[in-house]
Amino acid sequence: MTVSITGATGFIGKRLVQRLHADNHSVHVLTRSRSKAELIFPVKDFPGIVIADEPKWKDSIQGSNAVVNLAGTPISTRWSSEVKRDIKESRVKVTSKVVDHINSSPEGSGPTVLVNATAVGYYGTSETKVFDEQSPSGNDYLAEVCREWEATALRVNKGVRLVRIRIGVVLGKDGGALAKMIPIFMMFAGGPLGSGRQWFSWIHLDDMVNLIYEALSNPSYEGVINGTAPNPVRIAEMCQHLGDVLGRPSWLPVPDFALKAVLGEGACVVLEGQKVVPAKAKELGFSFKYPYVKDALRSILL
Ligand code: NDP
Repeated sequence: MTVSITGATGFIGKRLVQRLHADNHSVHVLTRSRSKAELIFPVKDFPGIVIADEPKWKDSIQGSNAVVNLAGTPISTRWSSEVKRDIKESRVKVTSKVVDHINSSPEGSGPTVLVNATAVGYYGTSETKVFDEQSPSGNDYLAEVCREWEATALRVNKGVRLVRIRIGVVLGKDGGALAKMIPIFMMFAGGPLGSGRQWFSWIHLDDMVNLIYEALSNPSYEGVINGTAPNPVRIAEMCQHLGDVLGRPSWLPVPDFALKAVLGEGACVVLEGQKVVPAKAKELGFSFKYPYVKDALRSILL
């Protein structure tokens, strides 16, 4: 299969490219920066890989069987009104471009599947509710971003199988949330973030990549699929396990104001959470390599 991937140079994308390339699929890396992509995917390690910057995205997409759309500006930074605009626009604009290129493919050619990232932020936040794929959207800023992101993906032609993966917090080496959490955790001698009661719906990077891979190749995967492990935890439990694995004490809570000082309004990503369960992935028989967070952390950090 030939797969075009936006956001391929990112935390999830890099691992997905490695996996597809190792399995002898043709990969087109769609990037804003050819030089950055060439450093990440040197020809000697990734022979045959195609790196496409604008205006080559259209040819790459229309010459592929499948597209994975992962692009978007990072959300775990300090939010200003400009950053907030960029968080939404970067996702909606890239998705719109991808969908337009798919929809304008010549008759009988072009991609037949689009796997589009979105996030568990779609559901809003709650300390008490459990969210599955049938749950309604929330009414905060991230929920609004996810709704627009998904609505844009839904413009894809009817003949194209669309999978919208509502991704939880992805745990992996050298990036993502753990890379941000560990220094904060270490700085404060470790401890629950905020009240500690907020839910943390996580997924191991290996399972995330496997889920996208399955969504590309298995025609039963369609519609919304939550990309979260079957056992979400409250953040206090996550921090307890993180402390155990890092060999750090985890008794001193990291106060809300400290997180807000570092992350601004973006602190809501860790101070408020949601319990999201992967009902659809389970129904489809997806097998999670890491269903429990302690095992996931041990595999990543030890
Ligand atoms: P990264 O931040 O690591 O990478 C995203 C990629 O998007 C970058 O490599 C970059 O590619 C591209 N990008 C960055 N900024 C912009 C911009 N302003 N406009 C267009 N493209 C941009 O993301 P992840 O791999 O962590 O996540 C992939 C997707 O999954 C994201 O959309 C994210 O929101 C979503 N997600 C991730 C979660 C996680 O825990 N990691 C949780 C929930 C959702 P290039 O420079 O090559 O163009």
